[in-house]
Order: sequence, then C-alpha cells, then structure tokens
Amino acid sequence: STQIRLASRPKGEPVAGDFEKVEIDLPEVGEGQVALRTIYLSLDPYMRGRMSDARSYAQPVEIGGVITGGTVCQVVQSRADKFKEGDFVLSMSGWQSADVVDAKGLRKLDPADAPISTAVGVLGMPGLTAYVGLLDIGQPKAGETVVVSAASGAVGSVVGQLARIKGARVVGVAGSPEKVAFVKDELGFDACVSHRSDSLKDDLKAACPKGVDVYFENVGGATLDAALSLMNPFGRIPVCGMISLYNATSLDGGPSRASLMRQILTDRLHIQGFIVTERWDRFGSFVKEVGGYIRSGELKYREDIVEGLENAPETFVGLLKGRNFGKQLIRVSAD
Ligand code: NDP
Repeated sequence: STQIRLASRPKGEPVAGDFEKVEIDLPEVGEGQVALRTIYLSLDPYMRGRMSDARSYAQPVEIGGVITGGTVCQVVQSRADKFKEGDFVLSMSGWQSADVVDAKGLRKLDPADAPISTAVGVLGMPGLTAYVGLLDIGQPKAGETVVVSAASGAVGSVVGQLARIKGARVVGVAGSPEKVAFVKDELGFDACVSHRSDSLKDDLKAACPKGVDVYFENVGGATLDAALSLMNPFGRIPVCGMISLYNATSLDGGPSRASLMRQILTDRLHIQGFIVTERWDRFGSFVKEVGGYIRSGELKYREDIVEGLENAPETFVGLLKGRNFGKQLIRVSAD
C-alpha cells in the first residue's frame, strides 16, 4: 500500500514536509477480514484538527501515522461472510491506496442506489452534517431567512437546498464569482454574496431585508461578524465549523466575549455546536429524505475530483483556502 503519513505537526498552513509518502506490504487477510483497494479518498476540513495536538473532541493522528479519512473502496479479497470480491464499501482507511481491515466496520455500497462517491459526500458524512445541523438545530420555518457560509461546498450546498425545500429564503456566502453564480443558478438559492468583498456586511444586509433567523456557521471570521449583526430575536446558529481559523496560530480578533454574550441575551439566540459522528442515529431518516430529493432532482451536488493519492497534501491545503469547488475527493484508483 502507498501511505501518506503525518511527518510533523503543521504550524499554520501545512507544508509538503509535514507529510511523507511510504510504501508498505500489507499483512495477510485474517479470518473475518477483507483486503481493500481505495477508489476515492474524501478530503475534509476536520483533518486539519487531527494533524494538531490541541485539545479537541477527537484524538490527533500520531506522528508517523497514516492520516485519517473516509474512503470508498473495493474488496479485492475476502475472508468475511458478508463481503465478496468486487463489492464496494465505505471504509475509514485514511490516506492510503490499500488496506486490510475487519469487515465489521464496513458498510456495503450498492452502485445501483447512487454513485459510490456520494457515500463520502452528499449521502454521507457531510450530507448528514447539513441535515442534523439545519433541521435539528436550525429548525427553519417557511418564510424565515437562512444564511449559510461555505455555500458551494459539501455541507453548505446541502444546507441551503434543504432550507429552500423547507420554504425558507436562502442566502449563501461564497468566495468566488463562479461559486456565487453556481449557488444562485444551479442550487437555487435566493441570493449569494462574496466574503471576499469589502462590502460583505452591506451586501448581506441587502440580501436579507427581513434579518436572519438561522445562520449556519461553517467559517467564522468576517462572515460570522456580518451574520451576527443581522440576527433576529430567537435566531438559531448551528455551529458546524470555523474553517477560517483552522490554520490560525492564535484566536485573537472578532467581537469581544462580552459583546457576544450580551447579544445572545438580548436577542435570545440559540447557539449550538454539534459533531456529526455523534448523530449517526439520524442516518436512516437522512438517507431516505435527502436520497429522495436527489432522485427527484430537487437537490443537486457537485464534486471536485483530483487524480492521484500523491496530490492529497497539496489538495488538502487548497481545501482550507477555498481552492476546491464542491465536495473534494481524491481518485486513488479507477472506479
Ligand atoms: P467545503 O466543501 O465547504 O470546503 C471548504 C470551503 O470553506 C472552501 O471551499 C471555502 O469556500 C471555504 N473557506 C475556506 N477558508 C475560508 C475563509 N477563511 N473564510 C470563509 N470561507 C472559507 O467543506 P465542507 O463542506 O466539508 O466543510 C464545511 C464546514 O463544515 C467546515 O468548517 C467543516 O469543518 C465543517 N464540518 C463540521 C462537521 C461537524 O460534525 N461539526 C462535519 C463536517 C464538516 P469559499 O471559496 O466559498 O470561501
């Protein structure tokens, strides 16, 4: 197997030297195990947290360890009853081209149901994140205004389209003219503004004439400041991610704690963080509902596929800066 391992903990933005490529021989396939070849590796912002040893909700990757990641794989050898050679599975094989694992942790994928890549995207972890964060925490009602940051991305694109389907006015925030156009024209948001514009606050205000009832937080920074200034009483803020801070070496800046707490009180805001891995209980209803919207064409998704495992580090650095356009995948081998 070709593996990409963590060579050192990045300081700020990861650099090439923080990663090392290693070739290893895989162990024999034991009873109850399968050998896998990786087809797609999912790149996700949370991986930056795993590269760091700051206190978090999950253990960091060890120095010298294979970097964590969701994968879509094919079984090449099986000694497990439930799987046969050729089956497609969802695995957590990480940044490597092949793996030998216990079959227990795998979910079989049926390519007749949906393209297999969607198992790490719109019908997988990012899609469930959007579903749980928006519907369980954001709870948008018809006619309310929902703002979502990183709107063209894996999570944001599902958040906005679900909110639209629920009858809300939906406003996206994205980082390039192409993404802004895509969010409005392809995903059907009512409006989309750019966080790279000097007039972000005014642009967002103009796009939300009745204020903001739900702000789905993916990024932090200037976008958060702009959204906070527009929150309506009893507004909800599902705190999903803060990608603008993931490479930060200090957390200074932004509104003071006192002013934020005062606003939470006076506007009676509901602000709640959540971690999707604690919400797999919602997976069944999520797949049923969102799978249905995909089949009916009401909900669209976009993937950004880069060829070759060796390009994972550079592509990952790009993901943290908005170079991706849609759900970021690495094609490790042919599907
Ligand atoms: P995306 O596909 O949205 O890709 C990341 C996007 O973030 C970039 O394309 C870029 O879009 C935007 N971005 C990057 N830097 C900045 C910045 N400084 N300011 C504003 N936007 C920026 O990724 P995902 O959909 O996979 O993840 C979105 C968020 O959801 C992340 O914060 C992630 O950590 C979080 N998440 C949380 C989970 C949970 O359990 N809580 C689970 C899964 C994801 P643009 O060009 O538009 O700026």
